[in-house]
Amino acid sequence: PSSIELKGLHKRFGRDTVALDDVDLTIEAGEFFTLLGPSGCGKTTLLRILAGLEEPDDGRLLIGGEDITDIPPHRRSVNTVFQSYALFPHLSVRDNLAFGLRMRGESAAERRRKVDEVAEFIQLGSLVERRVDQLSGGQRQRIALARALICEPNVLLLDEPLSALDAGLRGQLQVELQRIQKRLGMTFVFVTHDQDEAMVMSDRIAVLDAGIIQQVGTPNEVYEHPRNAFVARFMGHDNLFAIHASQEDWVDTELGRLRLDPAEQRQEQEGWLLVRPETLELNADLSEDYNRLEGQVRERLYRGSRVEYRLEVNGVTVMATASNVGQRLHNVGDKVAVGVHPEDLVRVAS
Ligand code: ADP
Ligand code: MG
Repeated sequence: PSSIELKGLHKRFGRDTVALDDVDLTIEAGEFFTLLGPSGCGKTTLLRILAGLEEPDDGRLLIGGEDITDIPPHRRSVNTVFQSYALFPHLSVRDNLAFGLRMRGESAAERRRKVDEVAEFIQLGSLVERRVDQLSGGQRQRIALARALICEPNVLLLDEPLSALDAGLRGQLQVELQRIQKRLGMTFVFVTHDQDEAMVMSDRIAVLDAGIIQQVGTPNEVYEHPRNAFVARFMGHDNLFAIHASQEDWVDTELGRLRLDPAEQRQEQEGWLLVRPETLELNADLSEDYNRLEGQVRERLYRGSRVEYRLEVNGVTVMATASNVGQRLHNVGDKVAVGVHPEDLVRVAS
């Protein structure tokens, strides 16, 4: 596998659209790396530049330590799987898979051997003689993946390859893709706008907004310690509360004054306080260490394995998630004591 380095990458379309704004990024060899962000933030543009299908206005691009900024697409050891499969529907799976090998001038015997091997690998060995238009969406997506893998690129680029599939199949392919990537030890650059998909699949994630990388980190780091309010909201956090003032170990927020862990002290005064719903304790026996708030249940969502409450605390909506094991359910209208441990509070910049 190869490492990837992007240095000061800039891309503009026309006068007004800055698709990528001075992107610096290092992707390690053998990493499952995900570009995550809303539609239009520049994910596809970044992949197309890596593939050589788009030229950057500025910046350099290195793969395996070699500067490939000026190398044409077909001479880069990079392959791409797009959202639409781009298969030949009237040809067999075998002919679709062998297409790239034929273009490279590999012998018929060699093509046969490699197709059988890769078809086995993605568990579609029994379907190689079928026509592509006789296959399901999930099978086609696996063929598209196999076709990209068969040329053994050092780097595989995947642009939202699962977003057209239904939830069940998607979950299954998320696991399979990850397994294939780890087994081959290839560098994967995966694109998605879905934060759950990014978290479950990736070694590391880069969160993009408007062509700017907002944060790079492991799923755990990006979810639990988002660097700013955009990343926090994009990772699905609703409980962000404005900080009005702060001292060494406390903050004044919309919810009231809360004690903080010393590690969360910041220079800047303003910003947001992130309170994850699963860290809140409702009506438990709380030690002195906890911050205590008074709340009232406004809504209860029973989700089977857990229960979600929409609480009102000091006139503000707060979401709390409780495990559904051995807990008494709270009813709409109940007054509840809400415990927040200082260690679970995270300060987030604006
Ligand atoms: P994403 O894949 O994250 O949805 P894109 O990389 O496709 O985002 O697009 C980033 C921005 O660049 C968007 O504003 C988009 O409209 C613009 N853009 C992308 N490709 C072109 C193009 N070929 N011509 C003009 N604008 C483009
Ligand atoms: Mg895109």
